[in-house]
Amino acid sequence: MAFDFDLFVIGAGSGGVRAARFAAGFGAKVAVAESRYLGGTCVNVGCVPKKLLVYGAHVADELEQAAGFGWTLEEGHFDWGTLIANKNREIERLNGIYRNLLVNSGVTLLQGHARLTGANEVEVDGQRYTAEHILIATGGWPQVPDIPGKELAITSNEAFYLKDLPRRVLVVGGGYIAVEFAGIFQGLGADTTLLYRGDLFLRGFDGSVRTHLKQELEKRGLDLQFNADIQRIDKLEDGRLKATLKDGRELVADCVFYATGRRPMLDNLGLENTGVELDERGYIRVDEQYQTTAPSILAIGDVIGRVQLTPVALAEGMAVARRLFKPEQYRPVDYQNIPTAVFSQPPIGTVGLTEEQALEAGHKVQVFESRFRAMKLTLTDIQEKTLMKLVVDAETDKVLGCHMVGPDAGEIIQGLGIALKAGATKQQFDETIGVHPTAAEEFVTMRTVTR
Ligand code: FAD
Ligand code: NDP
Repeated sequence: MAFDFDLFVIGAGSGGVRAARFAAGFGAKVAVAESRYLGGTCVNVGCVPKKLLVYGAHVADELEQAAGFGWTLEEGHFDWGTLIANKNREIERLNGIYRNLLVNSGVTLLQGHARLTGANEVEVDGQRYTAEHILIATGGWPQVPDIPGKELAITSNEAFYLKDLPRRVLVVGGGYIAVEFAGIFQGLGADTTLLYRGDLFLRGFDGSVRTHLKQELEKRGLDLQFNADIQRIDKLEDGRLKATLKDGRELVADCVFYATGRRPMLDNLGLENTGVELDERGYIRVDEQYQTTAPSILAIGDVIGRVQLTPVALAEGMAVARRLFKPEQYRPVDYQNIPTAVFSQPPIGTVGLTEEQALEAGHKVQVFESRFRAMKLTLTDIQEKTLMKLVVDAETDKVLGCHMVGPDAGEIIQGLGIALKAGATKQQFDETIGVHPTAAEEFVTMRTVTR
C-alpha cells in the first residue's frame, strides 16, 4: 500500500521536531502536526521562558552583592511587564527558528489538532493522511488535584503570561517546577510561600542536597511549609484568594500556583481507534524501541512518562529516526547517569546515584562532602553556602554520583556527566588538575571521607 508519508509525527515539541528533522534528513517523507505552538512545552511554557525568568530573578542577587565590590546603585525598580514582553519576543523568535528548521529540512508542517483514525491514519482539520509509521510526541500537561476552587489556581502555563507580578503567592508542590517558580517569584519581589505535602521537598534527590537547599532557601526568607496541603480555595470579596489547609489554617494570597506534576497529553488523540495501550500510570506503553502495542505507532518524550526532560525527548526522537530510517546508526538511549539541574536559587546540579540509592543498590559507599562560602561572596555580607558531594563505591573506587547546590551548578554538572558516563574513579577525579580559582575545582580536591 502506498502511504502519503513514511512518518507522521504528532506534536512539534522537543522530541517530535528532532525525530521529524532527522528522519527527513535520512530521506524519509515526513509530516508533523502541531496544534498549539512550535517547539512545544520547552520553548513556549517550559525550560526556555523559565530560565529567562530565573535570570531575571537572579539580577536581584547581583544587585545585593554590588556594594561589596564598590558599586553604589540607585534604588532598583523591577517591571514584570517588560520582562514578560521581552521573553515573549524571544519565544516568537524561537518559534520562527523551529518553523524554518522543519520546513528547510523538507518536513510538511500541518498546523492543527491531530487525531488518530486508524493504525496508519491521522486526521488534521478534517483532512486524512496515511503514513507507514506514526510517532506520538504530544508531551504533557499540568495536573492540579481535584479540590474545591481548583479553577482559581494557576499552573506554569498561565504563570508565564501573568499581567502583573502577584504580591503574595502560594506555590504548591515540591518538585522541579514548584522549587524553581518559588525562586522566581521570591527573587522578583513577591512574598512567597511554598507548601509541600511531605516532610521535605525534592523527593528522589540526594538527602544532603534537599536539606542544604531547604536551609539556603530559608536564609533567603522563602517561607517553606512542609506537611502542608490545601483543602480548598475560595475567592474573597477583594479578589484575593483564601486557601484553607488540611490542618485548618487559612492563608490569603493574590495567586495560588500549582506544580503538582504533569499528565500525558492524550486529549482527543483517538487512541481508541488504534491498538495503543496505556501503562498502569496512564502513559503510553512502549517497548525499549519506543514501539507501542500497535506495531505502526511509536511514542516518545513526556507522553511515555519515562524521564520528563528535554534532552531525553531529543535523544529518544533521534533514536526513533535512526531506528526507522538509518538502522546502521541506531544506538539505544542511555538512561543511566542523566545529568539534571533544578534552577532554584541557588541551583542544584546532579548526576548519578544519590547516597540513598547507592546504599539501597548494595554499594559500600564512601561519601565526600564539602560546604563552603563561594569566593564571590567574601566581599559581601551574604552567608550562602555551596554544597558539593561525591558518592563513591569504596570497593571499585568508581564515582557513582556527583551532587551540588550553588551558583552555576547546572553548568558544572554537565562535564561531570561525561566523567560518570566514562566510568571515572575517585582516583581519576583526584588526579585531574583543578581550574583555579573556581568553585568547580572542589570536585577534584575533596580528599577526606565524610562518612
Ligand atoms: P512537548 O515539548 O510538550 O511537545 C508536545 C507538542 O505536541 C506540543 O507542542 C503540543 O502542543 C503538541 N500536541 C499535543 N497534542 C497534539 C495533537 N493531538 N495534535 C497536534 N499537536 C499536539 N526540561 C529540561 O530538560 N530542562 C528544564 O529546565 C525544563 N524546564 C521545564 C519547565 C517547565 C515549567 C515545564 C512544564 C517543563 C520543563 N522541562 C524541562 C520539561 C520539558 O519541557 C519536557 O520534558 C519536554 O518539553 C518534553 O518534550 P516532548 O517532545 O515530549 O513534548
Ligand atoms: P514533579 O513530578 O517533579 O513534582 C510534583 C510535586 O507535586 C511533587 O513534590 C509531588 O509530591 C507533588 N504532588 C503531586 N501530587 C500532589 C497532590 N495531589 N497534592 C499535593 N502535592 C502533590 O512535577 P513538576 O510539576 O514539578 O514537573 C514535572 C516534570 O517536568 C519534572 O518531573 C521534570 O521532569 C520536568 N521539569 C524539569 C525541569 C528541569 O530540568 N530543570 C524543570 C521543570 C520541570 P510527592 O513528591 O510527595 O509525590
